[in-house]
Amino acid sequence: MEKKQLTRAKVNVVVRVRPTLKQDDKSCVAAEKTSVEIFNHRNIKENIKYEFGAVYDKSSTQQQVYTDCVRPKLLKTLNGQNVSIFAYGPTGAGKTHTMLGSATDPGIIPRVINGIFQQISEESKTSKEWRHKVVFSFLEIYNEKVIDLLEPKENDLPIREDGEKNIFIPGLAEKEIHSFDDFKALFGPASNNRTVAATKLNDRSSRSHSILMLKVTKMQQFSPFRVLHGKMYLIDLAGSEDNRRTGNKGIRLKESGAINKSLFTLGEVVDAINAGLPRIPYRNSKLTRLLQDSIGGSCHSVMITNIAPEERYYYDTYCTLNFASKSK
Ligand code: ADP
Ligand code: MG
Repeated sequence: MEKKQLTRAKVNVVVRVRPTLKQDDKSCVAAEKTSVEIFNHRNIKENIKYEFGAVYDKSSTQQQVYTDCVRPKLLKTLNGQNVSIFAYGPTGAGKTHTMLGSATDPGIIPRVINGIFQQISEESKTSKEWRHKVVFSFLEIYNEKVIDLLEPKENDLPIREDGEKNIFIPGLAEKEIHSFDDFKALFGPASNNRTVAATKLNDRSSRSHSILMLKVTKMQQFSPFRVLHGKMYLIDLAGSEDNRRTGNKGIRLKESGAINKSLFTLGEVVDAINAGLPRIPYRNSKLTRLLQDSIGGSCHSVMITNIAPEERYYYDTYCTLNFASKSK
């Protein structure tokens, strides 16, 4: 048991390439099972091939991405472990499609909610040993401010750590849900809060991190009355075009207000975890501070790197893949 705790879980980095959106758009990306190659038509010498644990090409389905990357982690959350799933990539590359999807082609979030209730109902069919409680919060980090989307408040919310090193946000609304319909009724209006704020402030939605937090508590009904607390973060990150000068490390971060501090630090945190470094710079941004108990350590994390295949996005794609392959 002891030993298991000591093994650091890496962040699993995968890539998803969306299809071209118009028929006559040319693609500069070739995806295979575990590799992506990008073609620079101006400079043929700059064709680059990257390797990843998994690559999902334009024909990949929402079901496939969910089944491979998320479903196994959902079972961990139901057993008291912490999980974070996040979509990284430039604006327009498919992050929201992957995380949220549409009514006709639902993405990870609706599948997770359905998956949790399905699993709970199956478990309670075979045994009455455990009782479950599911709550969720929905928030946004914009300009290093933590904003509650379920119950919007004027102030920026603080992030705290309790005596057991659990991270929490005092004052953040938490809603208990018993079904997918419960979730939909609360999540819909909360998403509108985000849209309203976004239109007030130019391109805010691409510059903010949208964070859904699910907490699953499993309570044993008989002695020894154990209680398991699992947490899952589902995050649609800010557009990575804000962050593409990360190659120049911290100097540029200070120079340019255009770079998203939380996104920049997330890259450093993922690199540090995957390189097995002893010190992880969680405290350098709001997002990574929030994720401190759910990424690295014994947690399970997946970064889905979204890229657009069109030639005109070559540079964004190049920067995004460099970032992701550094972190894998
Ligand atoms: P982002 O959230 O990264 O800015 P979106 O998810 O909004 O990007 O995707 C941009 C556009 O591409 C949307 O119209 C979306 O429906 C479409 N799209 C993204 N990924 C896919 C996909 N895998 N298959 C089909 N359409 C997609
Ligand atoms: Mg989006």
